[in-house]
Amino acid sequence: MQHVVIIGNGISGITAARHIRKLSDCKITVISGETDYFFSRTALMYVYMGHLKFEHTKPYEDWFWEKNRIELKRAWVKTIDFEEKKLYFRIPNEDDKEAKIGGSISYDKLILALGSTPNKFGWKGQNLRGVQGLYSYQDLESLQEITPKINHAVIVGGGLIGVELAEMLHSKGIKVTFLVRESSFWNAIMPSEESNLIAKHIAENHIKLQFSSELEEIIGDENNQVKAIKTKSGEIIDCQFVGLTVGVSPNINFLKLPQGNMIGREKPAFILGVGGLKLNRGILVNEYLETNLPDIYAIGDCVEHENPPKDRKNLEQIWYTGRIMGETVARTICGKPTKYQPGMFFNSAKFFDIEYQTYGQVPNILSEDFKTFYWEHSSGKICVRINYEANRKAVTGVNTFGIRMRHEVWDEWISTKKTIEYVLENLPKANFDPEFFKQYEAEIMEKYNQETGSNLKLKSKKGIFSKIF
Ligand SMILES: Cc1cc2nc3c(=O)[nH]c(=O)nc-3n(C[C@H](O)[C@H](O)[C@H](O)COP(=O)(O)OP(=O)(O)OC[C@H]3O[C@@H](n4cnc5c(N)ncnc54)[C@H](O)[C@@H]3O)c2cc1C
Repeated sequence: MQHVVIIGNGISGITAARHIRKLSDCKITVISGETDYFFSRTALMYVYMGHLKFEHTKPYEDWFWEKNRIELKRAWVKTIDFEEKKLYFRIPNEDDKEAKIGGSISYDKLILALGSTPNKFGWKGQNLRGVQGLYSYQDLESLQEITPKINHAVIVGGGLIGVELAEMLHSKGIKVTFLVRESSFWNAIMPSEESNLIAKHIAENHIKLQFSSELEEIIGDENNQVKAIKTKSGEIIDCQFVGLTVGVSPNINFLKLPQGNMIGREKPAFILGVGGLKLNRGILVNEYLETNLPDIYAIGDCVEHENPPKDRKNLEQIWYTGRIMGETVARTICGKPTKYQPGMFFNSAKFFDIEYQTYGQVPNILSEDFKTFYWEHSSGKICVRINYEANRKAVTGVNTFGIRMRHEVWDEWISTKKTIEYVLENLPKANFDPEFFKQYEAEIMEKYNQETGSNLKLKSKKGIFSKIF
């Protein structure tokens, strides 16, 4: 019987395990050093804020794994011998540098589903006590432990996880200063209107946003506990906690060799890691999620696609792509070779109480082949942006804040290239809660009519609903 071993019990590894079980009878082992059982990483903030117990973040009951013959092993993999097809474990609680080995396990096929690790850019003081990212269960534990000792926290890096951390700390009555290197919030991703809307909302939630402000170093006290930070402009800010939320990178350090040389001038260039595994920023895979080594696959956040699907990035460290990769690799391993097809890009998040959704392509700066329509409610908390092709007017992407839209409707509109006029006339069809939000649609339409001299009218509710159902 084939033995499939999966390193990583996150969404990608667990989805792979579940689907391999559905499709085959092979032996499956899932290894993780982080937790015994799969949990929803995206819900960590709610555990901290007391809205959920950690138990509630586990999508499956603990008996599920045994019943489905998926063996779980709690251990850290220290190294992999790709020739012998064997993994070696770290001894629990043993320091890595001692190079001791705590047992091994053999595999026929191996899936690397290693996730990400929060970035640290070599700042002085980045390893002090009270300095951390927000990624793992252990990060949650250390944050919970230190919380009673924090009066003032500094968060470095303006992205989604930074906002979550700000909200978490604020919910415990901690004063938060948010250092953002850019001149506006998340403006490498967001168009300026949305960036300003979020920034205003964060500030209204009593978070002190400091734009164009970069971390120089973190200053510790005699107990190696953080006591302040210094910015590049020389400002000293006293604090007892520093949250590093400057992005994440594929968690592949243990697969790198001390002197890995960059090989090749083609894109992406690569280094050869342990056993000759091709690495760049992540583990390089083809469209079947196969690495360059036989019987070794990689999925989820740790992956870098050599040839990403059209309009997609080489690295996409998000939940649903991990899930799709897990399902795809399971099919390939079970004899149904399947290409990775992530479908249309989408993402969602919450900025305090404002929900954000995006579908398709909404870059921060638009090329001249595209146009954009933007509407914002007078409250400054709700907005919709729709991008469309300049010539054919086909919609290409949407951002919404404060209005929840139906995924499947936008998926269809963008993939079937509906025009902006069609979309606006049918907007109630996409609205998740038409009764509640219907007043906005007329206003949105009116703005478009004013800007373009059009005379569009909302399709009657009856017409729309007879189409949906
Ligand atoms: C706070 C937070 C909020 C987020 N919110 C969103 C969101 O709203 N929407 C969204 O799309 N995405 C969100 N994300 C990102 C999303 O959670 C990740 O993209 C996803 O969880 C990655 O899944 P994965 O299976 O690739 O890896 P992971 O979930 O990281 O799982 C990998 C596992 O492998 C283990 N592992 C790694 N190396 C070894 C080793 N050598 N030995 C043993 N075990 C090992 C790790 O410890 C980990 O348990 C969020 C992430 C965080 C941290």
